[in-house]
Amino acid sequence: MLSQELYLQALNSTRDGLIITEAKGRDNPIIYANPAFLALTGFTLTEVLGQDCRFLQGTNIDQAELALIRLAIQKGESVLVTLRNYKKDGSIFWNELSISPIKDALGTVTHFIGIQKDVTERVELKKKLEAANARLQQLNEQLKQENKIDALTGLYNRKVIAQEVSILWDNAIRANEYFSVLFIDIDHFKAINDTYGHDAGDIGLKHIAYLLQKSINRRSDILLRNGGEEFLIFLFSTKEEEALALAQQINTRIAETPVKIKEPNIIINMTVSIGLVSAIASLDKSLDELINAADKAMYQAKMHGRNTTFLAKC
Ligand code: GH3
Ligand code: MG
Ligand code: MG
Repeated sequence: MLSQELYLQALNSTRDGLIITEAKGRDNPIIYANPAFLALTGFTLTEVLGQDCRFLQGTNIDQAELALIRLAIQKGESVLVTLRNYKKDGSIFWNELSISPIKDALGTVTHFIGIQKDVTERVELKKKLEAANARLQQLNEQLKQENKIDALTGLYNRKVIAQEVSILWDNAIRANEYFSVLFIDIDHFKAINDTYGHDAGDIGLKHIAYLLQKSINRRSDILLRNGGEEFLIFLFSTKEEEALALAQQINTRIAETPVKIKEPNIIINMTVSIGLVSAIASLDKSLDELINAADKAMYQAKMHGRNTTFLAKC
């Protein structure tokens, strides 16, 4: 048998805030609060005994969750909610509160037990993520409205060359920085369309777009679908060796990642040819020249057997 002291010690030692209240109509006065509850809220035992838990809500009494609590208490049921509560010093904390009724032998609710967990960090992080997501969605919407997103792959389309990429290029000139361009073309793509149909080709295009997206990691890198089965990557402040390493990683990643392009079981490995050009950005070169040089290098890569990268000088 567990002794009463042991029960009490267990309650006193629990890391989560724990209170017991009496069920008395509208008010549920606190008759027990453990040390974790006092530490969490900043109140002393004498300040909380006899009080209804509402004092934690401050003036913030319009939360929908409070209606859930009232309903559960009325019905004598348990409830789990997350509330914005106030500590004694006025600071806010997010309280994950679980309330359960304690019933007597006749089934009448005599007490409630409330367990409170400080989930402030979790809630704040979630809010930040939601805000960041909303901003991204907004940006995406804006780009869609400006017709800068390719409908099939979700990547930028070539319209961003005249704006975003040009700005990146101008910044590189001002900073006297390296600038690299990768011109990427899918190998023997027409054969996929001809053999398995246009829809299968579309799946292949989306697959390549996805792998390219996964391959770029800096916020300043710009990837776009140039049209058909061609893609461009622009790398700000990136020297030839780094850009070449990235291009080779892309070749390997694409060649080694199979894709199911048609149900039930048409699985193929695709490859790309890449033309690469790197230069220190300056006024005596133009972005178009770099793109053209990368395009020519891509054809050289085709000549050299495809599934490879060819480096151009510019
Ligand atoms: P290479 O290795 O020399 O690049 O050969 P390739 O077959 O990839 O090149 P080619 O230029 O002959 O063919 C490109 C094909 O891409 C032709 C075109 O029908 C197809 N294509 C272009 N846009 C799309 C698209 O949005 N969806 C599909 N499914 N196919 C497309
Ligand atoms: Mg092509
Ligand atoms: Mg091609």
